[in-house]
Amino acid sequence: MSGPVKSVVVVGGGTAGWLTAGIIAAQHGRDPTSGFTVTLVESPTIPIIGVGEGTWPTMRATLESLDVSETEFLRECDAAFKQGAKFVNWATNKPGEGYYHPLVLPEAYLDLNLAPAWQSSFATPFAYAVSAQADICDQHRAPKQITTPEYAAVQNYAYHLDAGKFAGFLQRHCTRNLGVRHVLADVTGIEAAENGDIAAVATKQEGSIAGDLFVDCTGFRSLLIGEHFKVPFHALNDILFIDTALAIQVPYDSDEAPIASHTISTGQSAGWIWDIGLWTRRGVGHVYSSRHISEDQALRELRAYLRPTVPGVDRLEPRKIGIRSGRRETFWVNNCVAVGLSSGFLEPLESSAIVLVELYAQMIAQQMPQDRSAMEIIARRFNDKFRYRWDRVVDFLKLHYVLSRRTDSAFWIENRLPETVPESLRELLELWRYQGPWHNDFDRVDEVFPSASYQYVLYGMGFETKPSARWGSKQYRNDARQAFARNADRADRLVGALPTNRELLRRIREFGLQRI
Ligand code: FAD
Repeated sequence: MSGPVKSVVVVGGGTAGWLTAGIIAAQHGRDPTSGFTVTLVESPTIPIIGVGEGTWPTMRATLESLDVSETEFLRECDAAFKQGAKFVNWATNKPGEGYYHPLVLPEAYLDLNLAPAWQSSFATPFAYAVSAQADICDQHRAPKQITTPEYAAVQNYAYHLDAGKFAGFLQRHCTRNLGVRHVLADVTGIEAAENGDIAAVATKQEGSIAGDLFVDCTGFRSLLIGEHFKVPFHALNDILFIDTALAIQVPYDSDEAPIASHTISTGQSAGWIWDIGLWTRRGVGHVYSSRHISEDQALRELRAYLRPTVPGVDRLEPRKIGIRSGRRETFWVNNCVAVGLSSGFLEPLESSAIVLVELYAQMIAQQMPQDRSAMEIIARRFNDKFRYRWDRVVDFLKLHYVLSRRTDSAFWIENRLPETVPESLRELLELWRYQGPWHNDFDRVDEVFPSASYQYVLYGMGFETKPSARWGSKQYRNDARQAFARNADRADRLVGALPTNRELLRRIREFGLQRI
């Protein structure tokens, strides 16, 4: 094929498929006279994965760019506000131990690095000393008020959402408002062009569906990039050991129970449990390494976790999901690009999967080849960029494990073995013993995790950076003291002024947020 790319075919209708179709259609498909089309083909029988309920703040800009009403999204997807994650029993397994990774930058972060001052003088945990969000989360407060317009924030936030309802919501929005054509059909084969491109996908119910660019959003099946193009899978389970999930949905213990404003991740003997609060229910799951514990043991730990808040836990049967930790070696081949689980997956510790979907889709939309002949160059650049991003995500997830001081099981001990830690992370950890993470440690303007995130995890986990004379000046100490005082003052004011997560969500259901 040569000539302009005019028709995009997305195969798969999970979160990845609909977000990608929406992002591309919003940029290219709105003008019906342009001749540009986006078609989404989805199996009527193969269900979506139905988990993936924690997102990043990027989701706000993504939904806004699709012209989605935030009020409708919150109501229809049973969504709630998320202001970060709390990691409990990661550093040690002492009862009550934990730290926050909030979504706001530390106080004065663009000009002032508060970490050295904090390390030399502060008894308050790092996230509380430099941000208001830890206190806000402790009190289950929302990140905004009912008078704050849609997508605007008092404190940076993301969402917890119902994955099943989100795909349905996006489907309705994309087909009604963004002109995406929806085809319910099973893809049964590929019709290849002479140059190896996909000319069309063959379907059981609707015949051939031709296109210029195909997006593989078929989940773990990886129908196009894996089965058809046979792009090798780059396993990462020697670094990140999690390979199984037991997922369950549980009710709140009362209609007035607090809705947590953050994801709670609680370390277990061979993995961790996520706990995500939606408007209507909690989504809870144990992700663990089956090399280290049996399914029975994992289930016992999940039930023990739920027992204090959920009656009848022994009758609850969670859904088991296998996780293959790793990624495709390349994501874009010929005229096919993989987005979502088909491109790879890592444990959901920092909700990094859906944000990668947003980033993939935005780059596809922004770089949409004007002509097939430009596609090889775009594909190469796309692959380079996303390989880099995956490496950074791997480093950041592994960071949570290497800093642990837990010695109660082989899982935690083996996670610290040097041969399981990527060289890039080992080097950074060595550097951070002498100088903590700061703006110059990461090269790119569009890093997935900013240096602030590394600070929150390192200092939350009790990592020590040696004090440096550089940070000892009187001016620095004065500036730092003032910044800490400003932050404490802001935390007090915000905790007093913000409604609870539940209160705000109830009011949004009643009155809605203002659209500007
Ligand atoms: P799927 O939802 O599996 O969709 C695949 C689609 O392909 C379906 O529509 C199916 O019908 C279609 N399909 C398959 N075969 C065919 C065929 N032959 N013909 C036509 N259609 C076909 N991510 C986060 O960001 N945050 C989280 O908190 C998080 N938690 C997770 C927890 C677990 C345990 C797991 C496993 C994943 C988690 N994820 C999380 C990842 C997240 O769930 C996924 O990235 C996201 O749901 C996207 O999935 P998908 O659309 O790629 O695949």
